[in-house]
Amino acid sequence: GLKVNSHFIFYQNPTVISFPSGPELIPPGACKSLNSSAIYANNEVNLAEVDIYGFDYDYTLALYSNTLNKMIFDKAKTFLIEHFKYPEGIAKYDYIPNFAVRGLHYDIQKGLLMKVDAFHYIQPGTVYRGLSPVPDEEVLELHGGTYHIPLTEDSGFYGKGPKVKQFMDIFSIPEMTLLAVANDFFITNDIEYDPVHLFKDISEAIGMVHLKGFMYKWVMQDLDKLIQRGEETDAVLHRLVSNGKKLFLITNSPFSFVDKGMKHMVGKNWREFFDVVIVQADKPHFFTDCIKPFRRLDDNGDLRWEKIKSLDKGQIYKQGNLFDFLRLTGWRGSKVLYFGDHLYSDLADLMLRHGWRTAAIVPELEQETKVVSTYRYALSLTWLQALTGLMEQLQIHRDQESKEVFREWQEEREEAMIKNFFNPQFGSIFRTCHNPTYFSRRLSRFSDIYMASLSCLLNYDPTYNFFPRRTPLQHEAPLWMDQLCTGCVKTSYMEEMSHIR
Ligand SMILES: [Mg+2]
Repeated sequence: GLKVNSHFIFYQNPTVISFPSGPELIPPGACKSLNSSAIYANNEVNLAEVDIYGFDYDYTLALYSNTLNKMIFDKAKTFLIEHFKYPEGIAKYDYIPNFAVRGLHYDIQKGLLMKVDAFHYIQPGTVYRGLSPVPDEEVLELHGGTYHIPLTEDSGFYGKGPKVKQFMDIFSIPEMTLLAVANDFFITNDIEYDPVHLFKDISEAIGMVHLKGFMYKWVMQDLDKLIQRGEETDAVLHRLVSNGKKLFLITNSPFSFVDKGMKHMVGKNWREFFDVVIVQADKPHFFTDCIKPFRRLDDNGDLRWEKIKSLDKGQIYKQGNLFDFLRLTGWRGSKVLYFGDHLYSDLADLMLRHGWRTAAIVPELEQETKVVSTYRYALSLTWLQALTGLMEQLQIHRDQESKEVFREWQEEREEAMIKNFFNPQFGSIFRTCHNPTYFSRRLSRFSDIYMASLSCLLNYDPTYNFFPRRTPLQHEAPLWMDQLCTGCVKTSYMEEMSHIR
């Protein structure tokens, strides 16, 4: 009978299936090209055609240390207890670094944090209530027997759905962590509460950290510790300007804050680098609103009442809207490349409505490309593909034993790409077990190119042409088996099967 498991076929009996062993298991060159300082292209971008470079500020020009997340968490936790009168017991929870990852969805009514794939399905094993995982059976029960999240409940285009919110920016990591610990407090102490109130109050408490100026104050007090890779931002700006490029800045942050940070990174003459500087822009509305006019800030930081007829170098403007910006600058279409870290607030409208080229800053790439380049990961991935190929072949056999083996392999396949290669709770921000994530799909839709940080630009000539790799569409791709070792696994496996039967 067929009492072998798939490991046995591959590893114990290499003569049956002529599958190479050792390092050759990794397709040659597949992993060596991954580099955390590379820029990846979703769409072709020729830098020679880009005359104008635009930037968001927070997490684009200024990258912040993880310490800031803990500070935001602690302050918001204090607001939750002191301002919103939540139980003192929540105070005992410390910040948990690496609990949450960007791009997760949160079910506001059920109080569940979870990872959703590109097809709106929850990834089993990635649902958390408080700090504890929710068993798959319970997740199914809670969603009427399916892992699917209907679009009506979900985030729509901008992640702000009525029932399920997607956390898309890096600032939301402390918010997700605070939600998790506060839910955990109520659950473990068996106290009845309304998760909807908790969500709203935590969202306001986090907002207070920003609105009351705490975050700005901390960063300005400790620029050295909290702002990272400032020299590299400086180098990028220098290089662009010396190549005759025009630069502009559109940020939601206030001028005093941006000014301090930019002076720290670039020097006191930083404004000479930029042709247009816009602060407190109120993105994403900046990109869709046609009404709010630009206002000029004078040297004292006071708002002027004059009508704005041009956007001049050396001046600081507040608010405004993209339609006026396009009219006043004439900077349209593919000659503009805009960099931002928020896929919705920074990039979506530019891509969908205005035809600027877009570049996403995704700091998580640094860690994720490191993992993907490891031998252990490559081995698991190769194994996953081999196993999937075997299953594809085996399913034509309808006998009981074959069906049994298929079931075993199915289980093994679910465990093959164990998520703890990455974040132990939620795995990679780019992939669920077998699909791209919701985040990934948005990233490829809204960004022409993406990179871990602005400094990656330093590795490319200013006339570089980024070509996306031509990956096969499903109908163009070889079968799983052929892809691996051009049929040798398949043929040998089929031969072996016929002997066994
Ligand atoms: Mg930002």
